[in-house]
Amino acid sequence: MTLFEKIIAREIPATILHEDELCIAFKDIKPGAPVHLLVVPRKPVPRVAAATADDQALLGHLLLTAGKIARDQGFAEDGFRVVINNGPHGGETVPHLHVHVLAGRPLQWPPG
Ligand code: AMP
Repeated sequence: MTLFEKIIAREIPATILHEDELCIAFKDIKPGAPVHLLVVPRKPVPRVAAATADDQALLGHLLLTAGKIARDQGFAEDGFRVVINNGPHGGETVPHLHVHVLAGRPLQWPPG
């Protein structure tokens, strides 16, 4: 079971902001910005590179959910960043696909 499956199963606590039939969104435990959320599919797809055509709707749902949360939480207009880390060079540490949503301050580009 991945760390995020344990959060979904309520075995590990998290501040959950959104939940639906396909995904869950909660606060990152080590925020990199004033707002730092993770949007995580219930299905434990390890990473983008492991997704298949069967996951097409799910991948779209994760981005639509990120946008909806941004609007609902009031940071869509100021702006935000969506990040998916894939593999060692991408900085992936949890092998369960997740969309980072960062907001609340101007963000640097390019990332480190
Ligand atoms: P990544 O490095 O892209 O795989 O992102 C994993 C993210 O999960 C990191 O930003 C961590 O801070 C975050 N994280 C790790 N453990 C927890 C936890 N128990 N609750 C919430 N976020 C976590």
